[in-house]
Amino acid sequence: MNYIDLHTHTTASDGTFTPSEVVRLAVELGIKALAITDHDTIDGIEEALLEGSKLGLEIIPGIEISVDFVKEMHILGYFIDLNCLSLKATLDKLQDFRRKRNPLIVQRLQKLGFNITLQEVLETAGGESVGRPHIGKVLMDKGYVKSISEAFEKYLAVGKPAYLEKEKLSPKEAIGIIIKAGGIPVLAHPKFLQLDEVSLGEILLYLTNLGLKGIEAYYSTHSLEETKQYLRLAEKYNLAVSGGSDFHGSNKPEIILGRGTEGLPLDNRILVNFKNHLNLV
Ligand code: AMP
Ligand code: FE
Ligand code: FE
Ligand code: ZN
Repeated sequence: MNYIDLHTHTTASDGTFTPSEVVRLAVELGIKALAITDHDTIDGIEEALLEGSKLGLEIIPGIEISVDFVKEMHILGYFIDLNCLSLKATLDKLQDFRRKRNPLIVQRLQKLGFNITLQEVLETAGGESVGRPHIGKVLMDKGYVKSISEAFEKYLAVGKPAYLEKEKLSPKEAIGIIIKAGGIPVLAHPKFLQLDEVSLGEILLYLTNLGLKGIEAYYSTHSLEETKQYLRLAEKYNLAVSGGSDFHGSNKPEIILGRGTEGLPLDNRILVNFKNHLNLV
């Protein structure tokens, strides 16, 4: 089977594989198309495009933007124009928000008695988009926790002692900037919104009115039942269907590149149908 992955992270944000390494791994696994969707940055994409063109792998330039909502809401943008100045300005602003928040989280951890510095976090991250996963990794490397997930559960998640809100775009702003950059806005991992089908439908209606074009129905932590529910909603709201693993390398070791719902390979037909639905071919 030909397969794909439309949701991946690199060292430009909180993945542990460089863009070239993700591309090479995809080629080794027999994957035919890959979207790079780092959090709040497009820094890794050029390198991925270059490596992809060398190895004959289709690379879709993407982004993942966290937006203001009661639960984690992430908006993916596909086929974005990397030269769009408005997009670049918005991403710079999001990086500013991160640069303001990271030292404050580190300070909180220091007050809690942890021997951790901002410098260590920045070195661990290496890339442009630095955040809680990197802070969690430093805590893990120093033996304070056994995993990054444990760092989130004990200290970094919402409501935990070192949690700090980060300024975010509204859904309208995020969808708007993706469209302005010529991209396709898609709701990422709807499961994270923790809504029943009716309420999720209402949110989708609201988001489609803002310009949302798709929903990530196939996803590594979605069950078959959940996936079916998202496919029904896609049909109802005329949304294109996307699928991705959310690969982060060893920062999320349980996620496998190219695998979506219940660990099943992400079929190339997802991408074919996605493009057909949006008249991209
Ligand atoms: P930030 O953008 O700095 O707020 O960090 C958010 C990112 O941390 C998410 O996009 C995930 O990749 C990661 N993350 C969130 N919750 C957890 C968790 N419980 N365990 C591991 N990683 C998480
Ligand atoms: Fe992440
Ligand atoms: Fe996400
Ligand atoms: Zn992601």
